[in-house]
Amino acid sequence: MHILIIEDEPAIRDMISLSLQQAGYQVSTCGDAESARDEIREWKPDCLIVDWMLPGDSGIDLIRWLRRQPGLRQIPALMLTARAEESDTIAGLESGADDYMTKPLSLRELHSRIKALLRRPASWKDVSHRLRDGRICLDTETHELTIDDQPVKLSKREYQLLRFFLGHRNRVFSRDRILDAVWGNDCYLEDRTVDVHVLRLRKLLKPWGLDRCIQTVRGSGYRFRCDEEETRT
Ligand code: CA
Repeated sequence: MHILIIEDEPAIRDMISLSLQQAGYQVSTCGDAESARDEIREWKPDCLIVDWMLPGDSGIDLIRWLRRQPGLRQIPALMLTARAEESDTIAGLESGADDYMTKPLSLRELHSRIKALLRRPASWKDVSHRLRDGRICLDTETHELTIDDQPVKLSKREYQLLRFFLGHRNRVFSRDRILDAVWGNDCYLEDRTVDVHVLRLRKLLKPWGLDRCIQTVRGSGYRFRCDEEETRT
């Protein structure tokens, strides 16, 4: 498995590179988006680790470019960001990043995220702007949702919440974290807001028996799990 790291800070780049090499991955590195594009075209890496802030084009620009390239756009990309603001996450995910991590990094966590990205079937993202999970398909350009190929209407907030869940499957998020990621931190809202919208989203998914995808994790928050085995009884 070949991983390409695009990061302009040598210390971070070397640290990640060394630890992934020790884990048995083949690793290449770039310090900017321009050289990364050449490297991606030439080597078609299996996974990218992309820093958000780069000299010249940003990591977001690079991922947007990647998602427009036939034959390359299915390459999973994990975005690194020094920005602590969770509301930026949405921008990162909208650009086509599959996952993100904030610095300072936990290498252990990075390894498990990379493993998860590499395990993901290629069909998961058949077209760059479509997020698919089992029977659910969310178009991030038109904001249209289809379940079993049937169109389903949803509000802007329901879209954003579902978008967040689909981009972060099988991970538990606290209400606070969901609130920051979906609503941003410019408004005064209570954790209960998340519960209310989760309830709405569950109601929306219920006719398909998919409401169970949004699991309440007692004392922690919510987790989105779309497991065909589990949802089709
Ligand atoms: Ca940087």
